[in-house]
Amino acid sequence: MAIRVFLDFDGTISQRDVGDEVVRHFGEFEPLHSELLTGSMSVAQYYQRAVQSFSDLVTPDALLAFALEQELDAGAGTLLRWLRSVEIPTYIVSDGFDIYIRPLLQTIEGGAELPVACNVLRWDGSVFMPEFPGASESCSCFCASCKRNAVISRIAMDDIVIYIGDGRSDTCAVQFADIVFAKGTLAAFCTEQGIPFHHYRSLYDVLIILQNRHQHKDFRPRRQAFLARKRAIEAE
Ligand SMILES: [Mg+2]
Ligand SMILES: [Zn+2]
Repeated sequence: MAIRVFLDFDGTISQRDVGDEVVRHFGEFEPLHSELLTGSMSVAQYYQRAVQSFSDLVTPDALLAFALEQELDAGAGTLLRWLRSVEIPTYIVSDGFDIYIRPLLQTIEGGAELPVACNVLRWDGSVFMPEFPGASESCSCFCASCKRNAVISRIAMDDIVIYIGDGRSDTCAVQFADIVFAKGTLAAFCTEQGIPFHHYRSLYDVLIILQNRHQHKDFRPRRQAFLARKRAIEAE
């Protein structure tokens, strides 16, 4: 049995949704984003249209410079350092893009080594092309990069899954997690679905709770999550 931590990126490790900020800064955020929220298109379709709306002057360097101005949660570095010190494997699961996630992670000690499951924004020398290597046909989520699949492909049945997130793209994954940390719309979803969770504001809050649980060896499976994992792993 291993304890594994899965962390969302946008709005969880970063303070704001960097993907949204990128679209707002370089392209046309509205009415596209509102249309996404009403469910009239998938996240993959949204990204395709958002990237098409980018100005012709946008380059990977400009995008990188903009990304590096985005603030991270003040507790991110301390939480990741502690997880490393107690040898708890940690993964980033994101419905955002590698192009800003990896450079921002590199600003945190040890962040460059973290495995990341996310979408890819490819640059062919003149235009950007979104690619979705984590798209799922077997999950009913609306995401471009399915976090449920990212989690279940990285665990054994009796592992303890800890999930930390904030938004809609985390909803398919938390159903498979034993210990959930949630804020924002993810907290509302967990309340609605009766999924027990710790509410947090900063990753420092998460750190304190995890340190306490670690000290008391208080990492137990959640029955509904265990059963969901079993069904999903057997079906894949
Ligand atoms: Mg998020
Ligand atoms: Zn999914």
